Amino acid sequence: MRSAMVRYQIEGRGITDDNVLRAMGEVPRHLFVPEQLSGSAYTDAPLPIGYGQTISQPYMVAIMTELLELKVSDIVLELGTGSGYQAAVIAGIAEFVRSYERIPELAEYARQNLERAGISNVEVICSDGTNPDPYDGGYDAAIVTAASPAIPEYLFPLMNEGGRIVAPVGGHYMQDLTKIRIEGGEPLITYHGGCRFVPLLGIRGWNE
Ligand code: SAH
Repeated sequence: MRSAMVRYQIEGRGITDDNVLRAMGEVPRHLFVPEQLSGSAYTDAPLPIGYGQTISQPYMVAIMTELLELKVSDIVLELGTGSGYQAAVIAGIAEFVRSYERIPELAEYARQNLERAGISNVEVICSDGTNPDPYDGGYDAAIVTAASPAIPEYLFPLMNEGGRIVAPVGGHYMQDLTKIRIEGGEPLITYHGGCRFVPLLGIRGWNE
């Protein structure tokens, strides 16, 4: 079912990054959804993970990961761990992921899912990800997997030259998938279609 997902939902829709196709072929998505939904883990849909939150549709994970242009040596920041699945896919390509989740039960759920999947290069931190810690040596890529009310400029100083940030930016219900590349210290912004994420709640997100 997982290889069919990669072939028809991901490759079939134009994702070409070999690392993304390989990592999504390897990460056991059924370990990142509630047990009673594991039979639906490889369908073309987001799924509820409790606390009003969702694991993203596989294609959305693929397109966002491809936009990150990951290299094996990359250090990656994620805001919105949820189930831990997106972090797991990134961790299958890059060196290290630091991921923030504001809901303690979900942070713990993600840690358990990652452990069951045998993934050890993800650190899950339970706090407001809109106030993230810098990484010694900087982040090479950052992904926001909750709807951001504005371009996350607070991440710019934490990024290395050439760094990529991917975030859904816009309103509470509809957003534009937005990529920001830090080039010569300046942000280069491109848009990659509409999307719909749960809100990013926090000091630089939406009010809780
Ligand atoms: N990437 C996840 C899906 C994210 S759902 C996956 O692969 O399953 C969005 C998540 O962002 C939710 O779990 C929500 O609790 C979390 N979130 C929202 N605002 C946040 C904030 N300010 N800091 C950290 N996590 C946040």
